[in-house]
Amino acid sequence: MNQNDDGRRAELAANLVQVRERIARACTAAGREPGEVTLTAVTKTYPASDVVLLAGLGVTDVGENKDQEAGAKADVVSAAGATGLRWHFVGQLQRNKARSVARYADVIESVDSVRLITALDRASAERTVPLEVLIQVSIDGDPDRGGVIENDLWGVSEAAASSPGLRLGGLMAVAPRGWEPDRAFEKLAVLSGRLAARYPAATTVSAGMSGDLEAAIRHGATHVRIGTSLLGMRNSLR
Ligand SMILES: *Cc1c(COP(=O)(O)O)cnc(C)c1O
Repeated sequence: MNQNDDGRRAELAANLVQVRERIARACTAAGREPGEVTLTAVTKTYPASDVVLLAGLGVTDVGENKDQEAGAKADVVSAAGATGLRWHFVGQLQRNKARSVARYADVIESVDSVRLITALDRASAERTVPLEVLIQVSIDGDPDRGGVIENDLWGVSEAAASSPGLRLGGLMAVAPRGWEPDRAFEKLAVLSGRLAARYPAATTVSAGMSGDLEAAIRHGATHVRIGTSLLGMRNSLR
């Protein structure tokens, strides 16, 4: 390991301490246990070497949003010996990429159509364990920015729950621009409650990013997806 790696490791370690402290404080304020919230490090645009360093620092879950980048990174990371990570796919996913993501991903958080579910179910035939899927919800009802609208949520959830190769884990959402995060995540919490009433194993609530993790935890997030606060500002808008 060269000096650059040492510097980067120290930087990531310091950021990780701060993020974990934010999570712990938010949990305490909400009367929850920090262990109830899983940190997913969103490593998009950052190199595989960062994922390896984060894994060495105890991060267990990583998120990516582009199939080509994620697949290549997962290969490099596992070749470097960092096995046992859970890979979350959090970006918009084309059906023709289903086979590719099913090869390395453990969780697809951005499922938003029955057609995608059909493709993922078929793709999971080559897996030894079911592929976990979260249904991405469009909080403001604008499906153009990803996610299913509330009216379609139950049909999409049932399609996932009845797919033998998939496991319906719960819901994911991004707070819409211009919305108070509290209002967005409160709405997500209501939908998550209804989903879990129908599908008791579907308890995952993936919500909260660098800017709004406290609000998400206040409203029951079980997973927060943190990029910027852990790895730094990304150059490109993605
Ligand atoms: C990039 C991304 C994140 C991380 O966002 P930050 O603001 O950098 O923490 C979380 N969720 C999704 C779906 C993303 O695309």
